[in-house]
Amino acid sequence: KLSQFKQLTDFRWEIEPYGDMRVPGIIFASADLLRQMEDDVGRQLRAVASLPGIRGAALAMPDAHVGYGFPIGGIGVFDPAEGGVISAGGVGFDIACGVRCLRTGLHRDDILTVQEELADTLFAHVPCGVGSTGGIRLSTSEIDDMLKDGAKWAVRNGYGTQADLDHTEEGGRMPGADPSQVSDTAKKRQRDEMGTLGSGNHYLEIQYVEEVFDEKAATAYGLAEGDAVVCIHCGSRGLGHQIGTDYLARMLKAMPRHGIPVTDRELACAPAASELGQDYLGAMRSGINCALANRQIITHLVREAFAEVLPEARLSLIYDVSHNTCKEETHRVDGRERRLLVHRKGATRALPPGHPSLPHEYAKAGQPAFIGGSMGTASYILTGTQTGMDDAFGSICHGAGRAMSRKKAKASFRGREVIEKLHRHGIHIRTSSYKGAAEEAPEAYKDIDMVIDATTGADIASKVTRMRPLVCVKG
Ligand code: 5GP
Ligand code: MN
Ligand code: MN
Repeated sequence: KLSQFKQLTDFRWEIEPYGDMRVPGIIFASADLLRQMEDDVGRQLRAVASLPGIRGAALAMPDAHVGYGFPIGGIGVFDPAEGGVISAGGVGFDIACGVRCLRTGLHRDDILTVQEELADTLFAHVPCGVGSTGGIRLSTSEIDDMLKDGAKWAVRNGYGTQADLDHTEEGGRMPGADPSQVSDTAKKRQRDEMGTLGSGNHYLEIQYVEEVFDEKAATAYGLAEGDAVVCIHCGSRGLGHQIGTDYLARMLKAMPRHGIPVTDRELACAPAASELGQDYLGAMRSGINCALANRQIITHLVREAFAEVLPEARLSLIYDVSHNTCKEETHRVDGRERRLLVHRKGATRALPPGHPSLPHEYAKAGQPAFIGGSMGTASYILTGTQTGMDDAFGSICHGAGRAMSRKKAKASFRGREVIEKLHRHGIHIRTSSYKGAAEEAPEAYKDIDMVIDATTGADIASKVTRMRPLVCVKG
């Protein structure tokens, strides 16, 4: 199987261009991870590499698995000035799904004394599960304000602080959002879903820092061994999903008009410079703001829960970064700087030290990127490198990645047993669905340590801390 790839280094493999491919495909992985990867990841990467206006290479990260059109763990970068496309499947349906991580000012031992109570209180405060609704109802005009201003809107409405915004990608507000390009159906779906976690692998987790790899960066992030942190993983809920559905259909229909052959319906796309491309950008950026506002409101709910159980806690945001986006960024390809559209689908932006977009206190450390493992294994904080900027458009992995389909996991594990086993290991799970817990069994994911070692081995990121879970609220 490895013979179809040209090995570049221990952790880089190339699919040389053939057929319709305009650029190579590159997979960042160890030989072991590549062997485990479904063959279809390579097929999907080749299809992405064949899209108009692609630059550099179609990339896949060590956590990559098959997704809708693009692999999850995939990156595709396009030049809008030269026919480059934008693809709804290249962003993913959960627009701006991402992770934010907060310091608590507490130690692991502080959590252990109230672990059950804290788990119950968090579960009671943050609605989760399929189609769950929250305590907030938005009118049509409030939804439009939220879609324009993201977490800034949330803070303006009492759900957080300026310091939260200072530590969120884009300052908490993605510019260029155009709510008029978001369908009424999408807006209706979101009316009462703000501040909800959703289902599946979305989580709200209390973790402790088990090991510090980079003392200086950890200190810059305000972290030391034994510290307790809170990680929130969720996205744009029903709204983002509906935007994806709406535009996928519209892009597919418009492909003949745009002169783009339909080789894979899942790869529906439109020239970024076309009217439809611009409409999608305006809608997708609204979706990004929805996710940022959602994580901000959940942060507020988490602070309320902590105030009840551990009033001495001080939850301050380390950072918030999305892993399902398409963003306009400047990158150097083929020897020149270009404004490019960077699709990161199940891939995290990770800026290196010295990058101008960093909060000033992270200037030397680089941007923290939060990589979830599973509810039973480790999670990591990584930071970006200059090599990652040069070779991967400032992108890294986003998780361990699934090793097993949801269906197979459901057939292999029983939710109640998964939860009991984790409990014996000191991890307290709260969930609205036992079936969901079976699908999310730690064994259904790849080995997070292997994924991290491949990512850092390829020198596109470096390790800062490893955490372990104590409490996990699961959609
Ligand atoms: P995705 O964004 O593709 O939905 O998931 C991101 C990653 O989160 C997965 O690849 C997986 O490794 C990780 N993950 C899933 N569930 C959990 C969880 O309950 N806790 C933690 N820490 N990570 C998880
Ligand atoms: Mn998601
Ligand atoms: Mn996600």
